[in-house]
Amino acid sequence: MLVVLSGGTGGAKLIQGISEEVDPSELTIICNTADDFVLHGLHISPDLDTIMYTLAGVADGSKGWGIQDDTFTTLAQLKKLGAETWFQLGDQDLATHIMRTRLLREGLPLSKITARLNTCLGVKATILPMTDDAVETRVKTSQGEISFQEYFVKQRWQPEVKEIFYAGVQSSNPSPGVIEAIERARRIIICPSNPVTSIGPILAVPGIRNAIKTANASVIGVSPIIGDSAISGPAHKLMVAQGHEASALGVAQTYVDLLDSFLIDKADEELCGKIQRSGIKTSATSIRMDSQAEKRRLAREVLALADK
Ligand code: GDP
Repeated sequence: MLVVLSGGTGGAKLIQGISEEVDPSELTIICNTADDFVLHGLHISPDLDTIMYTLAGVADGSKGWGIQDDTFTTLAQLKKLGAETWFQLGDQDLATHIMRTRLLREGLPLSKITARLNTCLGVKATILPMTDDAVETRVKTSQGEISFQEYFVKQRWQPEVKEIFYAGVQSSNPSPGVIEAIERARRIIICPSNPVTSIGPILAVPGIRNAIKTANASVIGVSPIIGDSAISGPAHKLMVAQGHEASALGVAQTYVDLLDSFLIDKADEELCGKIQRSGIKTSATSIRMDSQAEKRRLAREVLALADK
């Protein structure tokens, strides 16, 4: 059994590679839901959807979100009607949010809805939300407190960040199957996802971090940072706001109690010794995944490390 912890963008790239290397019946993805939010009255789960669309083979790889060749007719009409349209939603993508919202209103938990949507789209791997409870990443900026989507999409991660916190996480529970999957896993992979806003919330759900720590599995991580910057997005800024170093070393330190092995970029090779001193086997390779071939090659390297 293989368990993968993931957000959206960086996670989806590695998961695409992994899905070509392992039997989907062996693959369980535990996905961040602290980016979820309500817009136009619809419950949107950006990370769950990115992973679902990726594994269904319909993701828009160039944008990194949404469905390929989707149209934006409804969004254009919403704009005419005076709605805010800073968060882009394609017409086919909207169907996912309409269905999810309807089923939530009927009382189904997010985990059951996620399973149902994935089955409808032909996804064979298991995708589990980290929790069925409401957890929300909040960003305290110099201009006040905002949601993660307002910070990331509306304000294009420009405001100065003072602190990040996960509202509701202390009273949340892992969704059904999460702890069991970790306990059964032989390999656990921490994707090159944002350590603060994607992996951080998953590990903050009571019980998950401890289950990984005590699991009888090799735990492998991949850095989302090269040098002092994230490959995309604000991970480096948010690491600093949370008191961590913005580097592959800083990422390794946030998972030091969990990792057996860590992959960093060749450009950061000089950090291998430092990270290794904290007890994590560290190798330098190319961690950029700009093509399908690179995703698959990195996935193979990660899986090989887990088998050692
Ligand atoms: P989000 O929910 O969209 O923020 O998605 P993730 O948290 O899964 O991914 C964001 C992270 O992916 C960023 O910190 C990026 O640096 C990282 N990332 C994006 N592309 C790549 C890549 O090709 N290789 C690696 N190693 N990391 C990447």
